[in-house]
Amino acid sequence: MTARLIDGKAIAANVRAETAIRAARLAAAGTVPGLAVVIVGEDPASRLYVRSKAQACEAAGLRSWVHAMPVDTPLDRLVAFVHELNGDPEVHGILVQLPLPGRLDARLVIEAIDPMKDVDGFHYQNVGALVVGDPAFYPCTPWGVMKLLEHEGVPVDGAHAVVVGRSTIVGKPMALMLLNAGATVTICHSRTRDLAAQTRQADILVAAAGRAHIIGAGMVKAGATVIDVGINRLPDGKLVGDVDFAAIAPVAARITPVPGGVGPMTIAMLIANTVRSAERAAGFALAAGETRIA
Ligand code: NDP
Repeated sequence: MTARLIDGKAIAANVRAETAIRAARLAAAGTVPGLAVVIVGEDPASRLYVRSKAQACEAAGLRSWVHAMPVDTPLDRLVAFVHELNGDPEVHGILVQLPLPGRLDARLVIEAIDPMKDVDGFHYQNVGALVVGDPAFYPCTPWGVMKLLEHEGVPVDGAHAVVVGRSTIVGKPMALMLLNAGATVTICHSRTRDLAAQTRQADILVAAAGRAHIIGAGMVKAGATVIDVGINRLPDGKLVGDVDFAAIAPVAARITPVPGGVGPMTIAMLIANTVRSAERAAGFALAAGETRIA
């Protein structure tokens, strides 16, 4: 068997196109969806990432603002600025680019965001809603993975899903979304004793460890769906995922590439969350059958 490639770029383009239609409908009714991004400090990778988010927003017909604050911004100033954005009716989504400079407590800043504008889905209120399985803003990367699975028609209900990684932004919310969708979920992490024994059980394997090629030959069951969230730069500058693509593609049924798999979905879901927030602010009803925010 050779795996079918899951084309995240194409699927993200579809999501962005649908979102652009919703944004245009809102604009015609007098509400232009707006995303405010706050970045503290000069980290070049974060600045680049923030710029690409802003460009993607504009391409989908959203307004976006990048608020760059100096590296020595005090916590109370940052929190006060987030409160200002909470009160700005033109801002429907607020994103604070992480990581923040070490001396700033990111949790205090995230909790300052109005949960109704927390399009990253990191506020405790949204985290709690995800745990319960209620509608909420869900973190964009794992939510994007769910969209990939849905688009590919991968059955989640009843499947055994194995998630490698337990971070707050990827692994844990990923596991919860899969669980809420009916999967039996195993979560692996750096203390897991026999990783291969776990990953071999997976019908759906999500690798989010941030370790190049940690999923290698013999670690995947024939016919599994393999989703590679990892982004790792090798010493020669090449970007690779957590999955050894050459070893796994002949065994899996479906696989995401890196780059061009999960990555493009993250920004697409951020835009979708922002548009959903604007729809709610404008009093648009949920579409028939729609139970979730994005
Ligand atoms: P973190 O470093 O926060 O978490 C990594 C997780 O992997 C931890 O839970 C860690 O376990 C686990 N882990 C590390 N080493 C091993 C190992 N040898 N065996 C099993 N588990 C291990 O990373 P993130 O969750 O933030 O990101 C994960 C990857 O996804 C990164 O490569 C990141 O760049 C990428 N990413 C990609 C995005 C995209 O848009 N495509 C968006 C966000 C992230 P423990 O908890 O025990 O330390």
